[in-house]
Amino acid sequence: EEPQNRNSDSIAQSKTSSYNSNDKQVLDEPIKIGFAMDTLTEERWMKDRDHFKQSVEALGAEVEVMASHGDDALQIWQAETMISNGIDLLVIVPHNAESTAAIVEKAHSAGIKVLSYDRLVKNAEVEMYVSYDNEQVGVLQAQAITKLVPKGKYVYIGGAETDNNAHMFKKGVFEVLQPLIDKGDITVVFDQWTKDWVPSNAKENMEIALNANHHDIDAVIAANDATAGAVIEALEEQGLAGKVPVAGQDADLAAIQRIIEGKQAMTIYKPINELTELAAELAIKLAKDEEIGELGEIVKVNNGKMEVPSILLSPTVVNHSNVDETIIADGFHMKEDVYLNK
Ligand code: BGC
Repeated sequence: EEPQNRNSDSIAQSKTSSYNSNDKQVLDEPIKIGFAMDTLTEERWMKDRDHFKQSVEALGAEVEVMASHGDDALQIWQAETMISNGIDLLVIVPHNAESTAAIVEKAHSAGIKVLSYDRLVKNAEVEMYVSYDNEQVGVLQAQAITKLVPKGKYVYIGGAETDNNAHMFKKGVFEVLQPLIDKGDITVVFDQWTKDWVPSNAKENMEIALNANHHDIDAVIAANDATAGAVIEALEEQGLAGKVPVAGQDADLAAIQRIIEGKQAMTIYKPINELTELAAELAIKLAKDEEIGELGEIVKVNNGKMEVPSILLSPTVVNHSNVDETIIADGFHMKEDVYLNK
């Protein structure tokens, strides 16, 4: 019995150590992608998970998904688990942009490439990055709000400081605001990150901003719709909802409903299936060591260690006037859900 065991062990071992994706192609075995996600809290991430799975499967590959819910150590452990389960490529949405660099090193030492998804892993040699143009997200938010409120007191409710995207969103916002600040038209009276993107933290910050300014605030830019919703709750408690324009991002159903109700000025729409389809194609090409080809314009994004070859999709502004031709026309949300309260 013993030798037999040893034998099957060594077969199993040589299987994991000597198989690579090229062997798999020869043997016609499906490519296996690991998708290491962070949170599933915001509505979008469920779409990312489900559409990514569909997109990968439509290309004949397999996907294993794990989500770490904001726990850095768990995210590292999950990635390690998938690596030892024999994935051919790792796609990661980092919770913490810095600490996930360790995962990239682990993947590389197992001969597995890494695709950074939506959020960039910093200070690591990731093979590619795919996302929306996150700086542009901030630019579009600020352009929309400064058009509505060219002068006055602004509040900025940022994202999680540990998420590189939060820094990009803020950069874009302040690119637009700075000249108006310099001119003296706009004053930013409050500007804080939202720990872990948790809405209750954003609400608390908004309450501090309101109190410190005797409720005299003219506009709010929030880094996403979940935090915008929290801001609007705080405004609502002071009878100010609908009076102070609020910007958000993600085109969450609740945000679109608030836009229809006049409580939120705008959101940013990022069609998730566009991102998952692109990511799935890239992931499989990377796993097979194939040329990326014509999948999109490749730009360089610096992550502190290197210029990461990246494809950045374009975000779209959604406000009261174009909900139907964007969100609803695309089937991102159903018309009857959007107009539920009408
Ligand atoms: C994403 C946003 C999302 C936020 C919170 C960001 O990195 O780009 O779409 O709302 O994380 O999960």
